[in-house]
Amino acid sequence: MSTQDLIEKLRAEMEEKYGNNVTQKPRTISSNSQLGCFEDVTDAILAAKESQQQLMKLTMKKRDEIIAAMRKTSIENAEKLAVMAHEETGFGRVADKIIKNLLAAEKTPGTEDLHSLTYTGDNGMTLVELAPFGVIGSITPSTNPSSTVINNSISMVASGNGVVFNPHPGAKKVCLETISLLNKAINEVGGPKELLTAPINPTMDTSKVIMTHKDVRMLAVTGGEAVVEVAMKSGKKCIAAGPGNPPIIVDETANIEKAANDIVRGASFDNNVLCIAEKEAFIVNSVFNELRNEMVRNGAYELKHHEIDIVTKEVFTKNKNGETVVNRNYVGKCASDILKGCNIPVNQDIKLIIAEVNDNHPFITIEMLMPVLGLVRVYSVDEAIEKAVIAEKGYHHTAIMHSESVPNLTKAARAMDTSIFVKNAPSFAGIGMEGEGFTTLTIATPTGEGLTSARSFTRIRRCILAGSFRIV
Ligand code: NAD
Repeated sequence: MSTQDLIEKLRAEMEEKYGNNVTQKPRTISSNSQLGCFEDVTDAILAAKESQQQLMKLTMKKRDEIIAAMRKTSIENAEKLAVMAHEETGFGRVADKIIKNLLAAEKTPGTEDLHSLTYTGDNGMTLVELAPFGVIGSITPSTNPSSTVINNSISMVASGNGVVFNPHPGAKKVCLETISLLNKAINEVGGPKELLTAPINPTMDTSKVIMTHKDVRMLAVTGGEAVVEVAMKSGKKCIAAGPGNPPIIVDETANIEKAANDIVRGASFDNNVLCIAEKEAFIVNSVFNELRNEMVRNGAYELKHHEIDIVTKEVFTKNKNGETVVNRNYVGKCASDILKGCNIPVNQDIKLIIAEVNDNHPFITIEMLMPVLGLVRVYSVDEAIEKAVIAEKGYHHTAIMHSESVPNLTKAARAMDTSIFVKNAPSFAGIGMEGEGFTTLTIATPTGEGLTSARSFTRIRRCILAGSFRIV
């Protein structure tokens, strides 16, 4: 038997005995032009693991320097990454994507988000600290590609984790570039080499490897229903940020001029691809016409009766099960391009398409991710709330209300039971843009963490010193 055959035989025996990690070939190294990006997804996981172990040997001061460097490079490259994301996916607007990158860079909390806790009493002192999981597998969407990578990276590294990303295949170039830039920034301040990694060709198969690999201790998935379902069945701890269909409620007490402006800005931001963006509206009859006219004055185009059918036929299609689904060609497209595709001529520059429809029209019931907003006329705030709850489909994601009535606002907030409830502002106030509070692009709805930050990606550890250390 040759030496090579002998080695292979020993490998096979050891693999049988100890599992496949023993026989793994030494992992490859990622190139400097794509730092952290690997041909083999297992190499990406192992690299993130090694780097995470190095991170744990560094001080908290160094970790703060690492986070500061990640913010700086994200700000410096916000425009470049926005252009890349737009070119690669064809979704949204470059100017809005720059804002999303900047929000993620500047307003994602860092290590200050990690609060330890002490209990003291007759029995001494107990300390509770938030510890990292190790390597987190993060599955990211095509709709907010670079901003989600920036946001997740800051949150997860601040809490001491390494990350292996599986970006959406349709947004892989911009995500890999973001990962590489962040790693370079981390290296420049003396941080580990490949804290953030990804397979160069992310697919369903690489996603499966990440979801089942023993060194991936937690999953964070940001996307639609399918990926949430798969991740939640993986058997791993999972933070799932699923889809939404955020309704707007407008009652008779609302400041109509402001509401119209807020709705048009929120629903047209990045051509409506944000999961929190206004997707349909329930408006009481007494203010319906005034609000609709005011929205038109703010840059909305109201579809004429016969145009509603034309647009509906164009922006929806049927899937293989015969169900009505969104025509992906129109996701994230500008309102004027959607109208052009429908052969509806418009002269002025429009931001949003609106149409009065009934509450079971697909403009209301389907998460469209494009600047098309169905408006439903209702006859009381109670009817608006009831229909908004149905349209939200129990996602517990986001709802928006325009009203000056505290009792109505309170009633709606309770009934909607969403992770985010925005009052009298555009939806994006819910993620810290023109609203108080930090930013996240991963809003964990089905698993309940809500707006994720560093502390969401931690394990809680307790240490007890019995009988001592109390100073009172
Ligand atoms: P998507 O579900 O098509 O893809 C999201 C990610 O999941 C991608 O990386 C994709 O490759 C992966 N994926 C999809 N199906 C999978 C499967 N069966 N197994 C393994 N991986 C799978 O979503 P998208 O179109 O990129 O993004 C839009 C969707 O994401 C919308 O529904 C939106 O509401 C949701 N979203 C939610 C949040 C949030 O914070 N809750 C944020 C952004 C987007």
